[in-house]
Amino acid sequence: LRGGLSKTRQQLNQNAGFLGTDLRDILSNSESLEDLEMALLAADVGAPATAEILEDIRSSKKRNLSEALAEALILQLEPRGAGPGQEGAAPGGERPDVDPDGHVVMMVGVNGVGKTTTVAKLGQYYMLRGKSVMFAAGDTFRAAAGTQLGVWSERLGIPVIQGVEGGDPAAVAFDAATSRRARGTDVLLVDTAGRLHTKHDLMEELRKVKRVITKADPDEPAEVWMVIDAVTGQNGLQQAKKFHEVVPLTGVIVTKLDGTAKGGILIPIVRELGVPIKFIGVGERPDDLQPFESREFVRALLG
Ligand code: GDP
Repeated sequence: LRGGLSKTRQQLNQNAGFLGTDLRDILSNSESLEDLEMALLAADVGAPATAEILEDIRSSKKRNLSEALAEALILQLEPRGAGPGQEGAAPGGERPDVDPDGHVVMMVGVNGVGKTTTVAKLGQYYMLRGKSVMFAAGDTFRAAAGTQLGVWSERLGIPVIQGVEGGDPAAVAFDAATSRRARGTDVLLVDTAGRLHTKHDLMEELRKVKRVITKADPDEPAEVWMVIDAVTGQNGLQQAKKFHEVVPLTGVIVTKLDGTAKGGILIPIVRELGVPIKFIGVGERPDDLQPFESREFVRALLG
């Protein structure tokens, strides 16, 4: 994880290369405080959270800046309402396993964010934890996406339900959810389309896919996880808000954290969307996907 977050860490250290400094020295120097503020803003932490973090640091009892900053960042990454340490943290701050609530996860997000790759990575994640997994190639609009999932399916040995090119994605999702139920498969991951040029149709399509999954499997409320590309920062967050209005999101996966110095975007995502971050992507390989745990994330970021 440290490697995957190196760009954001370097960025923070470059502008605030005094993380080990005595907190009193920082607080008595307005220039240092300003550098810290700039570093947080540059990492895409956002203005409201940055102001709160600085406030927390001012009243912190910790001895050095990095400890005070870690505490403030962790607080920002906890979903509102949950006290620190209550959200999914295993003893010792280890990453908890992340099981979907139910058997079906519908994956949404705009093209290019890494959605199909993330479906494959999740498939491997659950398979390695002894679960049976199935894919559904619900992006029938883009033939390449179906092919891509087909290649992953073969490589990982995970069955995939595919429709015909240009066919109805909801039909594929319905088939897949029905067959998941019949086979008793543990996890069904449904890839969906992400074309933005026909946004209205896309939103209707996603709504329909969600509806038919529920119809095929009424006892199982499907989860909806949105994949957000960290490189796109605020843009990705704004897109997520639009999706959230149409198909209420139950989780977020932030990809490409390895490719950006703006890893602080996780904070506005948690604050403004109010949806938990389930996993983070830190590379292109199947095992470059990790369950998100706020304390571990902050430790890797500052350590
Ligand atoms: P989709 O259009 O959203 O389905 O996107 P793809 O799954 O095809 O991924 C687009 C590109 O992003 C591919 O080259 C992936 O290998 C790459 N990608 C996905 N996740 C990550 C990640 O966490 N880090 C990096 N560096 N690349 C990623």
